[in-house]
Amino acid sequence: MKFARFSKGGQVGIGQIDEEGNRIRPLSGVTGDVGALISSTPTTSAAHGEWLPIDEIKLLAPFAETPRNIICVGKNYREHAREFARSGFEAGATTDVDSFPAVFTKPSTCIVGPGDRVNLHSGLTQSVDYEAELALVIGKPGANISKADAYNHIWGYTIVNDVTARDRQRNHKQWFLGKALDTFCPMGPWVTTADEVDPENLEIKCWVNGELRQSANTRDLIFNIPTLIESISSGMSLLPGDIIATGTPSGVGIGFNPPKFLRPGDEVRVWIAGLGTLSNQFA
Ligand code: MG
Repeated sequence: MKFARFSKGGQVGIGQIDEEGNRIRPLSGVTGDVGALISSTPTTSAAHGEWLPIDEIKLLAPFAETPRNIICVGKNYREHAREFARSGFEAGATTDVDSFPAVFTKPSTCIVGPGDRVNLHSGLTQSVDYEAELALVIGKPGANISKADAYNHIWGYTIVNDVTARDRQRNHKQWFLGKALDTFCPMGPWVTTADEVDPENLEIKCWVNGELRQSANTRDLIFNIPTLIESISSGMSLLPGDIIATGTPSGVGIGFNPPKFLRPGDEVRVWIAGLGTLSNQFA
């Protein structure tokens, strides 16, 4: 099933999205964000309300009200690892493919939803870049999770655009500040529950102003999802609602020479098969 957080007439609610992604049915008695459903995913019969055309509501980021950690993986597609190493924006770059996953976080303050405007922070940076990514949502808590058990801990999947200020990522010798600016984590358009998704074979694409920039398949991840969960959960508890963004494929702005950084008015559209489309304008 697919679940979204939405607003209509000043009211915020949670709803079930239909198979085609065209309609939403509000769920009664559910407050907060989509994370409220993790402990008690409703059955179809538990859903209430009339189906509404999706263009009559505003979709919101699924996890904005009680956010957990947004854990991100860097350099997790070979071609992207190479383009990043070549770009000159990787502080201390010595090799293009690592032996262990590079892991960082984004703060929940940077989450925005589908259609929301992303702030380019023009007074601070001129090198804002996009990164289309498959993100998983932890459902079952755990630490020291084995690869074999990893998928039992995933509740669902969504899309994240890991927006990055490349100069800050380089200048500060770590990735957090460049990844953490307000509005730098577009998320959505909804969450698709794990039973409907084969995360190891999903097409992922990203367009800027209609120009295809990224096109890959999640089967090409260097560190696959069980490996990521085993690595990240080693000695560190993952809790329901934690999000892990699995990395971006090649074709980001710094992959071009000269780099194609985002400019005011640009629209970035990310699509992942079965998970919907996440579009945001930059200003
Ligand atoms: Mg990323």
